[in-house]
Amino acid sequence: MIVLLATQKPFAPAAVQGIREIVEAAGHTLALLEKYPGEDELKAAVADADALIVRSDKVTAAVLDAAPKLKIVVRAGAGFDNLDLPACTAHGVVAMNTPGQNSNAVAELALGLMIYMARTQFTPATGSELLGKRLGVQAYGNVGRLVGQKAAALGMKICALDPFLSDEQIQAAGAEPVHSVEELYASSDYLSIHIPALPETIGSIGYKLISSMPKGATLVNTARKEVIDEQGLAQALEERADLKYVADVAPDCYGQLREKFGERVFATPKKMGAQTAEANVNAGLAAARQIVGFFETGCTKFKLN
Ligand code: NAD
Repeated sequence: MIVLLATQKPFAPAAVQGIREIVEAAGHTLALLEKYPGEDELKAAVADADALIVRSDKVTAAVLDAAPKLKIVVRAGAGFDNLDLPACTAHGVVAMNTPGQNSNAVAELALGLMIYMARTQFTPATGSELLGKRLGVQAYGNVGRLVGQKAAALGMKICALDPFLSDEQIQAAGAEPVHSVEELYASSDYLSIHIPALPETIGSIGYKLISSMPKGATLVNTARKEVIDEQGLAQALEERADLKYVADVAPDCYGQLREKFGERVFATPKKMGAQTAEANVNAGLAAARQIVGFFETGCTKFKLN
């Protein structure tokens, strides 16, 4: 089988080497397409592929049309909004992600962003401490749970909302369960967002929720920019000079927000939550193992469609 590793933003060489070893040890061939300029190159490369590993690369219906032999696509990472799942299903292609493999990297970044904002973006101004502050975690999945547990070690009080987990599961993972998004926002000095970008979550965090946050609160978004209603965010920041927003993915209106609100807003220059050597290797190797397992035993753990 030909396994195509297609990454506009390439994996570190150590991760590529590890992927190659897993694929070749199972008797398959690894094809590599890195730093390609656009969809046309991806369409040409998938023509012979039986399996595809991508990072944030978009797998559209047009890409799938160009891949008549494709049986499986694995997104090496957690978020899978770059995969057109209905199109995968229509083409008979199994789609998977590799949940949990980059969670620690994202969780460490979320904590780093909180400290960065608390300490006034490392300017000499007087900052504040995380100790004793209340952290609301919106979605207590792989990343959210690690953020909660690490923040608890810093002395923060952790509460979490996750409609797909029981109170017992949330408590067992170290947080106080909260049952409404309104209560979560209204009671959190820091609010860390970890919901996936889905039709029902896109644009779901806006003026009402953000402006309900306590005095001096900071909203931390290492999920997807699309879950924020940017107009609502701007309005809340306008009306509440004490609120702060920090994100791993810059909002579309980042330039305007910085101009208006200065250091109350910060976004990393590019998405970097999962961008650690360790996460690269973990997610890439997991993707390769999942493909080998799928061909060897038909294993569809982590199937998304
Ligand atoms: P995960 O699948 O382990 O957890 C997601 C959690 O969200 C689940 O527990 C689910 O029950 C919960 N959930 C779903 N809908 C919800 C809702 N409406 N309200 C509250 N909870 C809800 O995913 P994860 O690994 O924790 O990643 C979370 C998100 O973080 C991803 O979807 C992705 O968008 C983002 N992410 C960003 C980076 C980055 O580089 N910044 C890296 C990895 C993941």
